Amino acid sequence: MKTVIPLIAQLSEAETAAWLAALKPALPDCTLVLAADLTVAQRATVEVAIAANPDLADLLALPRLQWVQSLWAGVERLVAETAGAEFAVVKMSDPQLAATMAEAVLAWTLYLHRDMPRYQTQQRAQIWRQHFLPLPSQRTIGLLGLGDLGTQAAEKLVQQGFTVCGWSRTPRMIAGVETFSGEAGLNEVLQQSQIVVCLLPLTKTTHHRLNHQTLALLPPGASLINLARGAIVDTDALIKHLDCGHLSHAVLDVFDTEPLPPHSPLWHHPQITVLPHIAAPTNKQTAALVAADNINQFLSSGEIPPRVDRNLGY
Ligand code: NAP
Repeated sequence: MKTVIPLIAQLSEAETAAWLAALKPALPDCTLVLAADLTVAQRATVEVAIAANPDLADLLALPRLQWVQSLWAGVERLVAETAGAEFAVVKMSDPQLAATMAEAVLAWTLYLHRDMPRYQTQQRAQIWRQHFLPLPSQRTIGLLGLGDLGTQAAEKLVQQGFTVCGWSRTPRMIAGVETFSGEAGLNEVLQQSQIVVCLLPLTKTTHHRLNHQTLALLPPGASLINLARGAIVDTDALIKHLDCGHLSHAVLDVFDTEPLPPHSPLWHHPQITVLPHIAAPTNKQTAALVAADNINQFLSSGEIPPRVDRNLGY
């Protein structure tokens, strides 16, 4: 008999259908069922579920659930909402997602490195003025977060010739990157970063990690790229640092509230580039294969893939 794997998702009908279409061929030996279609008997047998913005009640209705494969790399909501639950949460760890994010980091780093916001402003005022262009090696990029996404991004920036430093909770080694960890490490990275890129998970510890004090450590004229989660940056503090001229620009892909509300001052701030959470969209085909590999491995060995540490929140 085939193993029943529920897809527990609060997505549009079209999105759900597209995920089922990607997941079904990747899991030919399993029966994929939407949470609403599970029978009482099936519900009693489920040990692993696939989740995307799940309804907590659907997960808690599975008495034998051992672990949940998230279809997203960011799992803070799932982890917070299921605090105290026995089952493990496994985030999406897809090399393709990391490659797409590395591309985004390079794109927005080049946007700032090549002074594009300034030339856009000049064009609007019909100003013809050329500014000094440093070599990539003369530009230090600081990466906050050296996990699946931060590591590939750091490698891409090194390949492009930038000087790269990085910060993580525990010490990490990446060829060509000067790495730091711990509280003192953050200060060192910020003090030398002309462009700082945030790829941290949102946890109790990283909430408003970039605040008035830490942003003040950046060198004058520095810029920020936040591609992780909005609440890692204290927005009011960021606006103050931009308005007083200490920071020159911020590229924001993520916000406290998404979609960004119409009344947000960020929309019209001349030193802020607003993006609608597009840095690294999940590719359904590659993510489905990652989820399927994890599930097949579990079904054959009983081993749950590396899980989120519920105490750390990531
Ligand atoms: P990950 O593999 O879990 O890596 C997280 C990194 O952050 C690790 O290096 C970790 O340190 C570090 N870290 C965590 N807490 C820290 C702390 N308190 N101090 C210093 N470093 C800390 O996560 P990931 O897969 O790279 O993803 C990162 C985030 O990107 C996700 O959580 C999600 O929010 C975001 N994301 C955004 C998009 C988008 O389209 N904008 C798409 C996907 C993901 P250690 O190495 O020591 O563990």
